Amino acid sequence: MGTKHLNRREFCGAAAVGAAALAFPRPSFAQSAARIVVVGGGFGGASCARALKQIDPKLQVTLVEPNRTFTACPFSNTVIAGLRSIEQQQFTYDKIAADGVSVIAQAATRIDSQARTAGLADGTSLAYDRLVLAPGIDLRFDALPGYDEAAAAKMPHAWKAGEQTLLLRKQLEAMEDGGLVVIAAPANPYRCPPGPYERACLIAYYLKTKKPRSKLLILDAKDTFSKQRLFQNAWKELYPGLVEWISLTQGGKVNAVDSSTNTLITDFGNHTAQVANVIPPQRAGRIAGIAGVADNTGWCAIDPVTFESKAVPNIHVIGDACVAGAMPKSAFSANAQAKACAGAVATLIAGGVPAAPKLINTCYSLAAPGYGFSVAGVYHPKNGLLAEVEGSGGVSPADAPRDFRASEAVYAQSWFETTTAEVFG
Ligand code: FAD
Repeated sequence: MGTKHLNRREFCGAAAVGAAALAFPRPSFAQSAARIVVVGGGFGGASCARALKQIDPKLQVTLVEPNRTFTACPFSNTVIAGLRSIEQQQFTYDKIAADGVSVIAQAATRIDSQARTAGLADGTSLAYDRLVLAPGIDLRFDALPGYDEAAAAKMPHAWKAGEQTLLLRKQLEAMEDGGLVVIAAPANPYRCPPGPYERACLIAYYLKTKKPRSKLLILDAKDTFSKQRLFQNAWKELYPGLVEWISLTQGGKVNAVDSSTNTLITDFGNHTAQVANVIPPQRAGRIAGIAGVADNTGWCAIDPVTFESKAVPNIHVIGDACVAGAMPKSAFSANAQAKACAGAVATLIAGGVPAAPKLINTCYSLAAPGYGFSVAGVYHPKNGLLAEVEGSGGVSPADAPRDFRASEAVYAQSWFETTTAEVFG
């Protein structure tokens, strides 16, 4: 991520290039009844299915997603802090279906890349000409001793929004004033790089206002993190004495947990928490491994122009599941990749050559209600990966006045509303 200050003129200029790259002329497809199956109806998959149908209404687009309601992670930290309801995070697929996308409420369980079929949990299967996988992440329950699905019911990760988000909220509500809350943050790469630190801020906001004798400890498997200076300044300014961050070299890496006592074990000692939020290592959603597109890192290498898997032809991978180089795993990125991928898939089906995209990401974080900041970047294919365009983007200024932070909190909310309306509305 760039560290220079946002230069609005440069960023908007680059944004315009990105938008232009997405405004393709509608090609007249040689095989306009081509079948595209999209697996996963989150920010990546739902956006991609909709964009495909918009580019060519004659394409047969099927979206496979087991849940009838999607629960969004962005802004879920405000649910944990009691500032927003979970219902405000939830969206249905009705409008996507009304656009002509065939929405199937099933999980994909098998992929036969030779026969080009996707098998579903109910035993049926769908034939495809091209498959787009957007399954998001799976939590690696094998990577942290003591942390399995049963342990997650006591020490929630809340890294997939829904029941886990509500569980963490309930635990904070039930905790007595004076309790210790511990967040265990994983090593890179993982979904939403600034997410654990935004969560620390918003939990700290709840503690400061409702349980002021409590403490929050972040045990980190890293020495540096996204928007670090801005978060650390916010902790000092807003929550002095309440938030403590222990880096990797200070002994922050959690090596194991004991869910029977809510204990997090590090090389430098054990921490027993009243509320433990354990965010474990992650990998691409399971179906990516089944399809043979995930490599031994657990993530999916892709061509940065078409998002086609480097391992298996005719399968494209977008969103958190793919290796997008410098582009972070965010809903903003997944949405941008989805539209670029849809354009590339449509062009390939028409027998054309997809143009190299320019992709934009902005990650907003809230440190408190009315206090936001951001990191932004523009990315393009370079040396087989998505690299940041030199001089693009940057982070919010470290010394900005409070009204600047207040404006960024408004932009954050607008981003969420605009994106969820575009994807699901
Ligand atoms: P998802 O949105 O997770 O969608 C994946 C979908 O695939 C799911 O609906 C799942 O049910 C489905 N699926 C999985 N397997 C199968 C299968 N076998 N068959 C069918 N369907 C399947 N990003 C931002 O841009 N801004 C933010 O402010 C922000 N805040 C965040 C805060 C938190 C606490 C967290 C955890 C994340 C945050 N993110 C944010 C990150 C963002 O949520 C993810 O990057 C984004 O959801 C990725 O989109 P995706 O489509 O790859 O995955």
